[in-house]
Amino acid sequence: MSTYNVHWIKPPANLILRVAAWMITCIVYTQNTCAAPVDLSSYNPDCGVAVRLAGETLAMRWKTPEGFTELNLNTSGRGPLIRSISVAPDGKESTVVLRNADPVTVLSVGQRDLGKRQGWNIFFDRTRRKPSESGPLTLKLTAVEVQSLGRRCMVDLTGLEGQAFAGKLRFTLYAGCDLIHLQAIVQTQKDARALLYHAGMTCDPDGKSVSWIGLDDTMHRAAARKRPAAPEKVRYRTIALETKTGSVAIFPPPHRYFYPLDEAFNLGFNWWGNDFMGKVPDFGIGIRQDLEGDRRWVPWFNAPPDTEQRLDIFWLPSTKHGNALFDHVKAYTHDDRFPELEGHKTFTSHYHIEHTTRLIEERNKNTATDLPKALERPDFIEVFKNAGIQIVHLAEFHNRLGRTRRDPIKALPLLQLLHEECQRLSDDGFLLLPGEEPNVHLGGHWISFFPRPVMWVLDRAKDKPFIEKHPQFGLVYHVGNPEDILKLMEREGGLMWAAHPRIKSSTGYPDLYRESHFFKSDRYLGGAWKAMPADLSKPRLGWRVLDLLDDTSNWGAKKYILGEVDIFQVDRTTEFYAHANVNYMRLARIPRFEEGWGTVLEALRDGAFFISTGEVLMPRFKVGGKLSGETLKLDASGQAKLDASLTWTFPMAFAEIISGDGKQVFRKRINLESTEAFGNQTLQTALDLSGKKWVRLEAWDVAANGVISQPVWLE
Ligand SMILES: [Zn+2]
Repeated sequence: MSTYNVHWIKPPANLILRVAAWMITCIVYTQNTCAAPVDLSSYNPDCGVAVRLAGETLAMRWKTPEGFTELNLNTSGRGPLIRSISVAPDGKESTVVLRNADPVTVLSVGQRDLGKRQGWNIFFDRTRRKPSESGPLTLKLTAVEVQSLGRRCMVDLTGLEGQAFAGKLRFTLYAGCDLIHLQAIVQTQKDARALLYHAGMTCDPDGKSVSWIGLDDTMHRAAARKRPAAPEKVRYRTIALETKTGSVAIFPPPHRYFYPLDEAFNLGFNWWGNDFMGKVPDFGIGIRQDLEGDRRWVPWFNAPPDTEQRLDIFWLPSTKHGNALFDHVKAYTHDDRFPELEGHKTFTSHYHIEHTTRLIEERNKNTATDLPKALERPDFIEVFKNAGIQIVHLAEFHNRLGRTRRDPIKALPLLQLLHEECQRLSDDGFLLLPGEEPNVHLGGHWISFFPRPVMWVLDRAKDKPFIEKHPQFGLVYHVGNPEDILKLMEREGGLMWAAHPRIKSSTGYPDLYRESHFFKSDRYLGGAWKAMPADLSKPRLGWRVLDLLDDTSNWGAKKYILGEVDIFQVDRTTEFYAHANVNYMRLARIPRFEEGWGTVLEALRDGAFFISTGEVLMPRFKVGGKLSGETLKLDASGQAKLDASLTWTFPMAFAEIISGDGKQVFRKRINLESTEAFGNQTLQTALDLSGKKWVRLEAWDVAANGVISQPVWLE
């Protein structure tokens, strides 16, 4: 330990020292023309990561919860890039947990159809069916630059290229954090490209093991050996390489790596073995995407020309093995669970699980009155509960029984069974709520939500009144136009909103009906948020709907956005968490099904919630003492205090205060580069809101996990 202290560049090193270090570097590399030049002029040891250049080895050493981690990079341009990764548990000697390894990134580049619909804002693109090419990015190291930013240190290795993309490989190390964050940062000049990436590390498998947690929720370990690389279906998207002295776990950003699909199937997002994709001859482990996706619409990621695509992967080295190692990884996603937050309940929406459909189909082919086991206690209930979700709003009868649902006679028993099943599957701590994506009369796709079971027919026949007293089903509504729907929502206290606004079958909506009565009504909530389309050059997810919120707010419409998941199958085999997001509602308690759930709709209508991917939370958000959805009357000064708090797992990237004056959108970025992992922070700052009509807050971490408030309205 003490020998390190002599050599490491430590505070209070000043500029002279740094320049001196850089000059020494220059001398080193002019003497050895093979090594890449290392520029340390933008490095400041105050970042909490100590950097040392010795010959052709660049070493970074930083504090972690376990003790210290040290990464030794080979700058010679020859041989493995990683000379070693060492971990020194608190008070113990440093142990080399891995030697001689190489990061790998393989790109799959396909074609984006820009002629259809709205250019890059596309979901209905079958990229998997069009020609694509896969190949590795190779590093021909030409230069190394070390930079500090707040409490983090970035090492950029220039000379990365392949598949008509070029750029650099970046290692980011965060003070106090056990992650090594690797990014291939590459761009292309070619137009209309969509991409997927696969990544990992290669090394000699001799004496090593590979471990993961399987879909049976137990830890698996296999001897690392030469074998054709194959996908592995795992929990937590993580695979690890184990040596005698420790391990390195490898995993992608938990949400951002998963481009939008209709199904959350576990497609085997990890791999190990030789000859991965026929492109990586050496033994390795890593993360992967299935080029075929869920075999429906498979749009991959947008990669517009001249955008910096950031292809992330995390390595987590430790002296631990097996479950003790995976516990460190799982902490970053709270064990794939949306954590409890005081004063809030978790609400999720837009699931075409088709439980009721399956039940009807089962009953039709089976005369027995007993429920089949898989339907009596369906998997999805456990999956939601394990993910910390308390209230689920379904979107039933979307596919298989869609036509029957539109039949005025056959529809009512369907609805009744949906209501009965939701009641049966709800309990004191979990509410399963009926809902649909009825898509009739308004334009585009939309979601319906009522505070109690409501019977309604989607197409009003000529001879039917708006309200009918039905001998079997009681009060039944028949709707035939937007006015009927608005009347229904008003009478029953229901809400409607645009599903996937401005994309898929809602392309152009809600913009096209923004002047309608129903849109202007407080029964029309706004739009639903999902990370779609996906573009790895953006530091946030789901900008399409964030822009919609800014636009509707500037129209003066006072609308909100809520997280939607919009998938079909949910069971124990699915990679649910990666595709999920949740709404944290300001609710004191979960209502019981029997008493009605009007409080849930009130929280939505009042903007009393925020959206989160789970890793970043916003326990408090107030402007001038007002909560989201409330109205602040500004005084003549136009000044108001922002008082917000954030909690997170991955180190944070930035927060943004977004406001509008009815015409323009204003953004004020708060850099959070000085944050470490597993932190919390209060944001208190005076805002000048003169002339502004609304203000909201977002915050995003380094893996593009985030939290989004609803607006505070200003007068
Ligand atoms: Zn839809």
